[in-house]
Amino acid sequence: MKMVVTGGAGFIGSHLVDGLVARGCEVHVIDNLTTGDPGRLHSEAILHVADVNSQQTTDYLALLKPDVVFHLAAQADVQRSIADPYEDADTNVLGTINILEACRKSKIRKIVFASTSGVYGDLEKEQLTEDDPLSPISYYALSKMVGEQYIRLYSRYFGLGYTILRYGNVYGPGQTAKGEGGVVAVFGDRLKRSEPFTVYGDGNQTRDFIFVKDVVEANLASIDQGNGQTLHVSTGRRSSINELVSQLTALHPEPVDVRYLPPKQGDILHSCLNNDRTKAVLGWDAETSLAEGIAKTYRSWFQA
Ligand code: UDP
Repeated sequence: MKMVVTGGAGFIGSHLVDGLVARGCEVHVIDNLTTGDPGRLHSEAILHVADVNSQQTTDYLALLKPDVVFHLAAQADVQRSIADPYEDADTNVLGTINILEACRKSKIRKIVFASTSGVYGDLEKEQLTEDDPLSPISYYALSKMVGEQYIRLYSRYFGLGYTILRYGNVYGPGQTAKGEGGVVAVFGDRLKRSEPFTVYGDGNQTRDFIFVKDVVEANLASIDQGNGQTLHVSTGRRSSINELVSQLTALHPEPVDVRYLPPKQGDILHSCLNNDRTKAVLGWDAETSLAEGIAKTYRSWFQA
């Protein structure tokens, strides 16, 4: 099968490309390389450097006519979206519309979209479900929510197949602290530079940390399953920042200083996504425990 991954030179995208190549797919990547790194692309993937909202991207999709488009390219920095909502919407909303128009014109079967737990805003529940109300509190999450809805309407009007995957807090090898963010990558950076960890608040806030390989598996399962569905890609488990700190300090041979700072404004306390529907629909499960995923990620930081 022929696949296109937008944002395929990014953290999650490059892992997905590896997974698709391993499955024997012909893989094309559309990436403008603003945060993407061609160095992490699988040697068998074919890179097309272009913005998602460009005519060039439309032309590539018309030429390639892939079986599935995995649309991961995005402006993914929450703070940046607040500083520059125009740029965020340009990439995330207009970019998604451009991909959808190209899918329609080129009669592409299916789009698999990377969305976020951020669409629920600061709604706190023991576990969020896909039917909970959406109330984004950043322009980034808002632009993802709008992207989702455009996809549903393209499906309704033009019969485009889709699976929307709302990710928890993704971590793993290859994630960078800048741009792609993420507390695990930030802590990795600190360890590499022998700098202290900074924890905002008391560290008891929790997130649903999902290992990148499990995210890849959910995307692969979406090639043939989950049509018309919106699904969580998550563990359904809460892990605190303090737990992260203790796992990383236990792995590190040198002592690590931990500094507690005042809580960050707007930081949500708990985020956990129920994954029952994803398990039922995709026959998928989050297979990597936090301890296992953190150990793999830690090893990747100190590989020669
Ligand atoms: N966090 C922290 N120290 C850091 C970076 C992040 O204590 O150096 C905390 C942050 O305040 C939040 C949690 O880790 O409560 C997860 O942050 P991240 O930016 O990874 O994800 P998000 O808040 O978007 O879920």
